[in-house]
Amino acid sequence: MPQPNFSIEFFPPKTPEGVEKLRIVRAKLAVLNPTYFSVTFGAGGTTQQGTLDTVLEMRAEGFAAAPHLSCVGGSAESIRAILQQYKANDIHRLVALRGDLPSGYGAGGEFRYASELVEFIRKETGDWFRIEVAAYPEMHPQARSPQDDLKNFARKIQAGADAAITQYFYNADAYFQFVDAANKLGVNVPIVAGIMPITNYTQLMRFSEMCGAEIPRWVRLKLASYGDDSASIKAFGLDVVTQLCERLLAGGAPGLHFYSMNQAVATSAIWQRLL
Ligand code: FAD
Repeated sequence: MPQPNFSIEFFPPKTPEGVEKLRIVRAKLAVLNPTYFSVTFGAGGTTQQGTLDTVLEMRAEGFAAAPHLSCVGGSAESIRAILQQYKANDIHRLVALRGDLPSGYGAGGEFRYASELVEFIRKETGDWFRIEVAAYPEMHPQARSPQDDLKNFARKIQAGADAAITQYFYNADAYFQFVDAANKLGVNVPIVAGIMPITNYTQLMRFSEMCGAEIPRWVRLKLASYGDDSASIKAFGLDVVTQLCERLLAGGAPGLHFYSMNQAVATSAIWQRLL
């Protein structure tokens, strides 16, 4: 099988211990030769410096790294300043998102949707950045319908995005269906599949509830049946997610983007099995 593109996502650590731990994790994952690392950006700019610092540290170590940028809660002025900071640091790739403000944070700022952010980035910086945006094969939880969500996804590409990364999912058919429907709408950019390794049942259920990812019933039942037997959960999760990746790549997915949760073991184990 030809080696597909693959990228690995981290969040910026909040403590010196977290920074140190991420260095070790990244060194372990770097041997897999990923296309790039990406670093999330807390909605409302909460991790602005941490995101940049983490990206710059990765770059100094010789890795390709892309910051995320979420626009919710931001003003044109604040986003312009961040773009200038990224440009000044010779960053050429970013993941552009709306973000989700925590409840009680207040009003949404000047940007309502990620498509407006993409439009703004293109207006301000031309072709300087390669822009990736988010896609939702199982529908974004706030969308009115899958068709509406697909059209809204297409707006981001029409606004100038170069590629997309999906929310994680465990139903390969949802991904293939989404890509077909996007192609029919004239969207032909690469749609990289987002992959969430399964290592912790409670955490997986909580995240999936928030982001609208469906855990197939049989997977859920099996994970629940292991109780606190973490080794069995991890072993089963590894099988399920590796098979999903195999199916996606065999069906033409242009790449995989791993939500690493700042951990090396699961991403590494899945990738080794795919080689
Ligand atoms: P949008 O594309 O703006 O869509 C949000 C909702 O609005 C959807 O329901 C869409 O259908 C609807 N919509 C869009 N345009 C219109 C329109 N014109 N009219 C009506 N409705 C519309 N969050 C962070 O805070 N930081 C991160 O670093 C981060 N990284 C992520 C990386 C990936 C790969 C993914 C998949 C998600 C990431 N997220 C991150 C989460 C993301 O911010 C949330 O999923 C958020 O709720 C939606 O962001 P979006 O960019 O997809 O928004």
